[in-house]
Amino acid sequence: MTPTLQEEFETVVRRNPGEVEFHQAVREVLESLGPVMERRPEFVEMGIIPRICEPNRQIIFKVNWQDDAGRVHTNRGFRVQFNSVLGPYKGGLRFHPSVYLGIIKFLGFEQIFKNALTGMPIGGGKGGSDFDPKGKSDNEIMRFCQSFMTELSGHIGHDIDVPAGDIGVGGREIGYLFGQYKKMTGRYESGVITGKGLTWGGSRARTEATGYGTVFFADEMLKLSGESFDGKKVVVSGSGNVAIYALEKVNQLGGTVVAMSDSGGYIVDESGIDLEQIQDLKEIRRGRISEYADANGSARFVADGSIWDVPCDIALPCATQNELDETGAGSLIKNGCTLVAEGANMPSTPEATRALRAAGVRFAPGKAANAGGVATSALEMQQNASRDSWSFEHTEERLKEIMVGIHSRCSETAEEYGAPGDYVLGANVAGFLRVADAMMAFGVI
Ligand code: NAP
Repeated sequence: MTPTLQEEFETVVRRNPGEVEFHQAVREVLESLGPVMERRPEFVEMGIIPRICEPNRQIIFKVNWQDDAGRVHTNRGFRVQFNSVLGPYKGGLRFHPSVYLGIIKFLGFEQIFKNALTGMPIGGGKGGSDFDPKGKSDNEIMRFCQSFMTELSGHIGHDIDVPAGDIGVGGREIGYLFGQYKKMTGRYESGVITGKGLTWGGSRARTEATGYGTVFFADEMLKLSGESFDGKKVVVSGSGNVAIYALEKVNQLGGTVVAMSDSGGYIVDESGIDLEQIQDLKEIRRGRISEYADANGSARFVADGSIWDVPCDIALPCATQNELDETGAGSLIKNGCTLVAEGANMPSTPEATRALRAAGVRFAPGKAANAGGVATSALEMQQNASRDSWSFEHTEERLKEIMVGIHSRCSETAEEYGAPGDYVLGANVAGFLRVADAMMAFGVI
């Protein structure tokens, strides 16, 4: 990092104490920006870096809710509206006990550049709660979502801020959240939230979009060396929304997913993990990944270990932040993995990223590779605005075009800045330039 950017980074750390994930996300972007600041000194004069690192608004609120036994619980809700120069704030809601302001800020910060990379008119934001949906009944989830939305509703709108899902927030939760928003406002404002059900304003292919998009991006990387997914062994961490649809697309492109995980451990099935069984287990029964091995002779479950020890050609981390560390990266390199594409947000630690890149493993950062989800959310907003509903094929085709476009933007930018094949630099610089140019155009506001 250049001394000026290092100083800016230290200011961010000082002003946001204890928010380690946010610091990590900021550092990752600033490390790429030295050559940009050299070419565009006006960005320094106009204070673009400190302005982009400070959210426009951070909302923290109390969420009281009652469990089935009548006991009252209090959780904390967050919405960080980070940057809106390209469009209304856009980013998901995460319900997980690990959530605190630092997690939401890291996700919101990443979202600014990711959304810019899609080329669509969406700003960056993120929200969530430290509520743990695991083990809760449907009614408890409903009551929590209603209470959460009661507080959030005054801050969102289709031209203001448009939330979606993330960890712990899927179709069921979006339904309860949207229902409460509709009741409170008395308006059928479809464009206020994305990830909706197909019969009430949702987009086809939105559920699949992040996982599919990650695989489309990785496929573009493979094409550059005349390769494809055909015949490749793939490890996908996680078994939630992103992981399941990454599995489906890998299968469609001729690859074999040999391992998946949840927070309890991982499964290995050399014959290929069965999509329908995983969907039934995770999306319908909301079970644990270990149950897959109980029901399949060809699979084994490992409770204490690292999924990255499973030999593969391609690794797709699709669970959570910092799940792939330096040791995991070392195992992937030793076992001959040649490509890592991040389906999750910031799943690789900085040490892991450095090790993979130093070993010549092709590496796609989440802000580029997993942008298909938010891009398809923007397509959902387009359909809502025009009261239209597109076919699955048309929407998937648009998603593919967008992912191919993001891939080209990243690789062309990397080349322009003298670092061909460096998708980290390409994604950070291309995303940053789009946002910074708009900030310059708006003046100091
Ligand atoms: P999800 O449906 O809630 O699934 C999360 C998965 O990750 C679950 O299988 C979960 O297991 C697993 N997991 C969580 N913490 C873990 C840990 N410490 N170790 C191992 N596994 C762990 O969430 P999702 O929507 O797929 O999101 C996954 C990632 O993709 C997140 O980083 C999210 O920010 C990112 N992302 C999502 C979207 C989207 O459209 N959904 C878009 C862009 C990026 P348990 O069930 O045991 O917790």
